[in-house]
Amino acid sequence: MKRIAIIGSGLSGLTLGQELSKKADVCIFEKGRGVGGRMSTRYADPFVFDHGAPYWTVNTKEFHNFLKPLIGSVVAEWKGPIITLEKWSPSIKNISESSYFVAIPNMNSLCKHIAIGLKIKTQCEVTSIKPTNEKKWHLISRADEDLGVYDIVISTAPTPQTLKLFSDYPPKNHGIYKGKFDSCFALMIGINEPWDKGWIAAHVYNSPIKWIGVNSTKPERNNDVTCLVIHSDHQWTEANLHRNIEEVQDLLLNELGTLITLDITNLSYVSRHRWLYSKIQPVENLEYFMDNNLGLYAVGDWCERSDIETVWLNTQKGSNFIASKI
Ligand SMILES: Cc1cc2nc3c(=O)[nH]c(=O)nc-3n(C[C@H](O)[C@H](O)[C@H](O)COP(=O)(O)OP(=O)(O)OC[C@H]3O[C@@H](n4cnc5c(N)ncnc54)[C@H](O)[C@@H]3O)c2cc1C
Repeated sequence: MKRIAIIGSGLSGLTLGQELSKKADVCIFEKGRGVGGRMSTRYADPFVFDHGAPYWTVNTKEFHNFLKPLIGSVVAEWKGPIITLEKWSPSIKNISESSYFVAIPNMNSLCKHIAIGLKIKTQCEVTSIKPTNEKKWHLISRADEDLGVYDIVISTAPTPQTLKLFSDYPPKNHGIYKGKFDSCFALMIGINEPWDKGWIAAHVYNSPIKWIGVNSTKPERNNDVTCLVIHSDHQWTEANLHRNIEEVQDLLLNELGTLITLDITNLSYVSRHRWLYSKIQPVENLEYFMDNNLGLYAVGDWCERSDIETVWLNTQKGSNFIASKI
């Protein structure tokens, strides 16, 4: 059996892992503590936050068919009123009902489900891939651990991280170089009281904040408390990316106080996370990096669009292609 190393255990890496382990000996390496990547969950008992992707939508039959058997056990609809807020007129502009899907009981549960049965080494950052004389790849971790020799290496890390790893190998004119990512700050707020405003999320315009999600209104969450996840606007994030993180937190908190009625001096929990690579910027003609001669592949949301459905569809295509070459 061919040996395949997959870098990253987000939705892309795990989906590839499930498909390719039917034909090969697959090992997944993940630098984080658990699986999920940008579909992660932060725990701060009694508060829980899906601080990356807050939800996904379903538009294709293929993705619907994949999710159908998981509805009720791993996946559910997050239903309720979504409002629109404007910085200069902070009133509710319109309300629509959502047709958003989430994993239950937490966002990382879908990835945990797909991870069942896979060989995954967490807290292991792959920092070097070196060709061997037998036309294979030798992987080394940041801790200088020898991770073994593989016939094929697939990176699912965002493009800047993949390019660093593959720096000596992809052709310099490949579409992979066009993959530029936006950054995003996630502010997490816990309040020891149930949410009483009626709406479940807000799209915000003309503000450093672009999204307010009430995580505790999602299905199978603890709704005796309130968990808010706030995402910053990507242009504002760009301008403030290297600012002191405490200052960023204060700025976003004050902004929140101007948008909704909330006593920001009386919060039970506040934390933040900086997503350096959150979503790929829209760009034409992105393409997978797939080099059969080298045995090097890069698959992930950067191939087209950063949304969970597209990631899943692309990794199906990617794994079919790679499986046909094994
Ligand atoms: C703030 C935010 C909001 C979003 N909103 C939405 C939304 O509303 N709807 C939607 O559908 N999608 C949304 N997304 C996008 C969605 O989360 C991603 O497109 C999707 O999760 C990408 O999955 P992936 O597996 O391709 O990448 P990732 O989830 O990023 O997985 C890559 C993994 O590789 C690991 N890794 C990287 N380098 C190494 C290395 N050298 N060694 C080992 N491991 C490594 C990382 O730790 C990570 O776990 C959002 C994302 C963010 C961050």
